[in-house]
Amino acid sequence: VQRNRGEDEFHQAVREVLESIGPVVDKHPEYAEQKIIERICEPERQIVFRVPWEDDCGEVQINRGFRVEFNSALGPYKGGLRFHPSVYQGIVKFLGFEQIFKNALTGLPIGGGKGGADFDPKGRSDREVMRFCQSFMTELHRHIGEYTDVPAGDIGVGGREIGYLFGQYKRITNRYESGVLTGKHLSFGGARVRTEATGFGCAFFVQEMLSARGESFDGKQVVVSGSGNVAIYTMEKVHQLGGTVVACSDSSGYVVDEKGIDVELIKQIKEIERGRISAYAGRRPGAKFVAQRSVWEVPCDVAMPSATQNELTADDAATLIANGCVAVGEGANMPTTPDAVRGFQEAGVAFGPGKAANAGGVATSALEMQQNASRDSWSFEFTEKRLEEIMKDVHARCYATAAEYGMPGNYVAGANIAGFTNVADAMLRLGLV
Ligand code: NDP
Repeated sequence: VQRNRGEDEFHQAVREVLESIGPVVDKHPEYAEQKIIERICEPERQIVFRVPWEDDCGEVQINRGFRVEFNSALGPYKGGLRFHPSVYQGIVKFLGFEQIFKNALTGLPIGGGKGGADFDPKGRSDREVMRFCQSFMTELHRHIGEYTDVPAGDIGVGGREIGYLFGQYKRITNRYESGVLTGKHLSFGGARVRTEATGFGCAFFVQEMLSARGESFDGKQVVVSGSGNVAIYTMEKVHQLGGTVVACSDSSGYVVDEKGIDVELIKQIKEIERGRISAYAGRRPGAKFVAQRSVWEVPCDVAMPSATQNELTADDAATLIANGCVAVGEGANMPTTPDAVRGFQEAGVAFGPGKAANAGGVATSALEMQQNASRDSWSFEFTEKRLEEIMKDVHARCYATAAEYGMPGNYVAGANIAGFTNVADAMLRLGLV
C-alpha cells in the first residue's frame, strides 16, 4: 500500500485477486518461496510521458500518457489504451493487473499491459484527435512492437484512433508492422469480429452461465449500461440469442424502451453522429430518457454493466436482486463494487467477473495477431465461431476451477485461481526475471 500510495483502483483490483487465491498458495509453497505474489503485483515496466499537441485555436495543450507493461510471462504485453480525463497511474495499473489474468484465461499466448492518457476526446474535432494520437505515438512507438507490446482500444479509443496511431507508427518506424496494434480497420490488417468481440463474447459468457442453471436468454429482459463499443455489441448479440434489452445509458442518464432497444439507432447516434443517448428517446416512439439516474433501477432478469469501473454499487445490487435479477455479466472492467459483488453472491445470482466475461475482446485481438503474423484474413463466420468456442472454454475453466476448490458456481474465485495459476507456473519456469 505504501509503495502504491493513492492508487485506489489498483489496490481494489489486487485485493480482489489475493482474496481468492489463498487455497492455491497453500497448495503450492513454491509460490511463496519464489515471492510470486510480490513479483506479480509489481509491473515489469511503467512508462509515463508528456503528450504536447496543438488544438484548433492554435493553443498548446499538454496531456500525460501512460503505458504499464505488467507481465510478459505468457507472451508480449497486450491490453488497450484508454483516453479519458479520469486516467492516472492507479487506473492504468488496475486495468493492467486485471489484464494479466484475463489474458491467461483465454489460453492464448499474451501477457498483460495497459495504457492511455488523461485526454478527453469529447467535443474535440477530428483533426484535434488526430494530432493528439500522433503526438502520443511519437513517444509510445519506442516501447511497443509485435514481439514486445501490442496495444488496442478501450474507452475513448476506437477504430478512428487506432487508425491515426497506426499511421504515425508506420511513418516514424518506416515499417508496415500490422501486428503492433489490434483493433485496426480491415483495410490495414484488422480482423473481422474484433469490433463486435467484447460485447458478443460477454453475451456468449452469460449464455453459458444461464445454461449452467438450466436457463437461457429466451424471454429474458436485459439491462445494459453504457452505449459505447462493448454495450452496443452486447445488445446486438443478446437480441440474437433471444433476450430483450430494455435499457442502456451513457454518463448523462439512461433510456428505457420496453419494445427492445433499437441497436441500429444507437449505432447511428453513438458511432456515426457521436451524440448523446438522450437523442434516442426523441427519435423512437415510446422510449423515455431519464437524466442522471442509475440504469439499474430498471427491472430486469439479467444485468450487463458495460460502461466503467465501480458503476454498480451495493444499493444498485440490492435493487436488482429485489427486482428478480438472476445473472450479471461484466462487460466493463471492475464495474461492480466489492460489496455489490458480495451481495450478488449471497443472493445466489450468477456473477461473471469482467476478467472472464469480457475476455472475448482481447481473445479476438490475439486472433488478429495470428492473422497478421500469417498474412491471412479469416471470414466473419469462422472468426465468430472461434470467439464463441473461446468464451465457452473460459466459462468451463472458471466453472471447473471453482468446483475443484470447493466453491461451486463462484466465477470470481474460478477466474482468479485459474488465471493466477497459469501465470504463476510460467513465472516459476522462467526463473527469477
Ligand atoms: P467506449 O468509449 O466505447 O464507451 C464507454 C461507454 O461508457 C460510453 O457510453 C460512456 O458514456 C460510458 N462511460 C464512460 N465513463 C463513464 C463514467 N465515468 N460514468 C458513466 N458512464 C461512463 O468504451 P468501451 O465500450 O470500449 O469500454 C467500456 C468498458 O469495457 C470499459 O470498462 C473497458 O475497459 C471495458 N472493456 C473494453 C474492451 C474493448 O474491447 N473495447 C475489452 C474489455 C473490456 P459517455 O460517452 O457519456 O462518457
